[in-house]
Amino acid sequence: MSTNINQPAIKTSDGAGTLWWRTVATCVRKAMGLVCIFCAAVGVSAEPGMLKVGIGRADITPDMQQPVWLAGYAARSAPATGTLHRIWAKALAFEENPGQCAVLVTVDVIGLTREITDVVAETIHKRHGVPRAHLVFNASHTHSGPVIWPTLSVCDAFTPQERQQTIRQNREMTERIIAAVDMAMATRAPARLATGRGTAGFAINRRKREVAPVDHTVPVLRVCALDGAVRAVVFNYACHCTTLTANNLMVNGDYAGFAMLELESTWPGATAFFIQGCAADQNPEPRHTEACARQHGQALAAAVRDVMSRPMQDVTGPLNMRLVETRLTFAPVPLARMREEALDTNRFKQKRAQLMLEAYCCGAPVTSMPYTVQALRFGNALTFLFLNGEVVIDYTLRARREFPDDNLVVAGYCNDVQAYIPSLRVLKEGGYEANDSMIYYGQPGPFTDDVEETVFRAIRDVLTR
Ligand SMILES: [Zn+2]
Repeated sequence: MSTNINQPAIKTSDGAGTLWWRTVATCVRKAMGLVCIFCAAVGVSAEPGMLKVGIGRADITPDMQQPVWLAGYAARSAPATGTLHRIWAKALAFEENPGQCAVLVTVDVIGLTREITDVVAETIHKRHGVPRAHLVFNASHTHSGPVIWPTLSVCDAFTPQERQQTIRQNREMTERIIAAVDMAMATRAPARLATGRGTAGFAINRRKREVAPVDHTVPVLRVCALDGAVRAVVFNYACHCTTLTANNLMVNGDYAGFAMLELESTWPGATAFFIQGCAADQNPEPRHTEACARQHGQALAAAVRDVMSRPMQDVTGPLNMRLVETRLTFAPVPLARMREEALDTNRFKQKRAQLMLEAYCCGAPVTSMPYTVQALRFGNALTFLFLNGEVVIDYTLRARREFPDDNLVVAGYCNDVQAYIPSLRVLKEGGYEANDSMIYYGQPGPFTDDVEETVFRAIRDVLTR
């Protein structure tokens, strides 16, 4: 599916004018309304390419009335004990022509599921007419946020009651995500956008192999009101939100949460949006303490402030948003091996094997998974590339090499997060991101060797003009 948002305005000045003359004779109040519509249309077209931007946010911090389990570490053996700082669903609506929007949602959780994104998409389409292809989600991948069921359900040891509670909590969170989008749609106003790039150095390649790529780039998108006030700061970095580890039981957004808080205190009234990059093989260094998470948050916020203190490049329309869906294939796994694993002493392998055997017995063995690639292009100035799953950094570096003129911001952890997405290099090397992580995600095993090429075919589809 591919959709160009840049279509003619629905309301033309001619149409509004004719209607105004007809209406003014009968109803002064109605006529005043039409004058307003007419003025708004003229106002937007006064500066070609100027966008309207709406900003919304909703607090998704669990209320702790019931036990809340945190996601990301199989070693956790107790629910959350409190909150270090609030976590959020945030939404940005970009409007080029009246009624035609692209909406970006960021959520401080480990990763969303298709169940959640489908419910939000359906509601937003009904309420605001925004099609699925114009809506994208990004999770910060904080390992100090609530469990999103059934993501990584192989890791949990829930009682049936705890599972029900988690599903209920997820439903409440889904309503909050929708509320954030509603707020963004309601606050659309003309805005000036600008972009720039900085760097922050705390991400390391955690695989520690001979080839250990990192990407320390911090792309920034600034949204200002026409009076110059900063309304939103969007920034991207590729690094796991795993500064805090399994012994942490306090809800928080890890370094990304601290960075957003810091930027929102720098520009009171502005909303900061963190977009997680292709961080699958990237860890913060050092780790383990709250002080480290704060320190990385401050380093990232400082990089963003530095970019915003220097001249930035203007960003305008036309907007173009595309979505392509493909499938990634798993290497075949002999049934005998899953039968063996179902009796394994490792409880994670055992549970994965049970899931695979259940699917096989239902006549729907897991052989592939759906994979979505999206892009949001702002004229020639800036392009966001949104990739599903835990994507390794090789994808960012290759995408930038293949599309050097697109000023790419590459995001991982978009839409639903169902597995690690290794490059061919990482797949051949093996290890956690290629093989072992598939156990925790409840997938049959590694992808076939064409995984990187399949993803890049979809990337070319969304990025080729
Ligand atoms: Zn991860």
